[in-house]
Amino acid sequence: MTMYNMMSPKAEEFISDEEIRDCLDYAEKNKHNRELIDQILEKARKMKGVSHREALVLLDCDLEDKNQEIYALARKIKEEFYGNRIVMFAPLYLSNYCINGCEYCPYHLKNKHIPRKKLTQEEIVAEVTALQDMGHKRLAIESGEDPVNNPIEYILESIQTIYSIKHKNGAIRRVNVNIAATTVENYRKLKEAGIGTYILFQETYNKESYEKLHPTGPKHDYAYHTEAMDRAMDGGIDDVGLGVLFGLNNYRYDFTGIIMHAEHLEAYKGVGPHTISVPRVRRADDIDPDVFDNGISDDMFAKIVACIRIAVPYTGMIVSTRESQKSRERVLDLGISQISGGSRTSVGGYTEAIRPEDTTQFDVDDRRTLDEVVHWLMDLGYVPSFCTACYREGRTGDRFMSLLKSKQIVNCCHPNALMTLKEYLEDYASPETKAVGEALIAKELKTIPNEIVRRKATEYIENIHEGQRDFRF
Ligand code: SF4
Ligand code: SF4
Repeated sequence: MTMYNMMSPKAEEFISDEEIRDCLDYAEKNKHNRELIDQILEKARKMKGVSHREALVLLDCDLEDKNQEIYALARKIKEEFYGNRIVMFAPLYLSNYCINGCEYCPYHLKNKHIPRKKLTQEEIVAEVTALQDMGHKRLAIESGEDPVNNPIEYILESIQTIYSIKHKNGAIRRVNVNIAATTVENYRKLKEAGIGTYILFQETYNKESYEKLHPTGPKHDYAYHTEAMDRAMDGGIDDVGLGVLFGLNNYRYDFTGIIMHAEHLEAYKGVGPHTISVPRVRRADDIDPDVFDNGISDDMFAKIVACIRIAVPYTGMIVSTRESQKSRERVLDLGISQISGGSRTSVGGYTEAIRPEDTTQFDVDDRRTLDEVVHWLMDLGYVPSFCTACYREGRTGDRFMSLLKSKQIVNCCHPNALMTLKEYLEDYASPETKAVGEALIAKELKTIPNEIVRRKATEYIENIHEGQRDFRF
């Protein structure tokens, strides 16, 4: 048995199984405890977060009126920290060579009927050009773990290639990286290559399930994987993105684990997670989600999003095209701040010429184009944003968090969203999307409270119309 200690560098102490199990019992016993739930909600209304134990009580709460209060509060926190903006990104799969044995992923080593593919630098140019032509400015690169086929040098070279491509008015301005847990030295190299966020999903925080789901390969090592974010921060990366794959293990366990991980990073490293992703298991080649019997309903998925938003108000929250349009729509106002659009989850997926064989990692549910997603968001009253300003202005890590927590960052986010949306409309949007977007920008500009910022943003937007690009606050 290990003692729970959020300040410990050891995975089994900052994600203590004993503490989680105790919380599970506690929340189960208190799911009708109106007095306790009211106390937690009162604390949550201060918008400074609640503990993992308190968050789980909210997740388990079985009182309909209190659940409505939970959703209303999540909406309020989302509005307060992120307004009506939704940041857009796309994944870019570099390679599906992988030496791990993850049982839920078709790229696992033993899957012999999936074609293996690693993009050459020329193919990356083609993929990124296609992504730029869609209008993307922010990518998340994905690669399997394979020191022979995808060594760190390959990842670094690919990042350099991506940043170097300037096609028409296009540019990738932020490359987030989702690669296997690695050494401090390699994290330092990624930092030097200019990455945005380092993303690594925990998959599940339950050590026993984790080891069963990852029977072979380096990913089998639970502690090495769980402590990766600490090493990333030791290597100088201060924006890290957490995630669990809901459906692998008991969702209550993993929900508690991810909040504990956020608490650990904030307490021990001084900076909490930049983002939290909430993927759910999907059907894929050689994988049948029916074998994972922990699938969560759409209702529970929405509640998880709301309770993470309440527990960690400052963190960005990401939902991908794994989710259907309907499911994405439901969680947008409960806490999601970033979504992908027009995604391809295969190696070479954006370029017809490189896509002869199917290498899809998982089924995409939302198959709309980026233009359709942008249009849909605006119809719902959101401002799609292609902003990457903070990372490029050096607003990362604790500097970013203090601006975010004091809610000062909104003075940048809102005009930046409008300016980057304007770029999108000028360069890539369909006439219908453009018409809706122009009206939205005109309306939203009026809501910028600071007169100087409003005047400058208006001027920059006119400059963008005249052909200039890349303004930011
Ligand atoms: Fe490899 Fe990642 Fe798939 Fe596991 S989840 S098999 S590490 S690509
Ligand atoms: Fe994100 Fe910073 Fe842009 Fe706001 S200003 S949307 S926090 S990059």
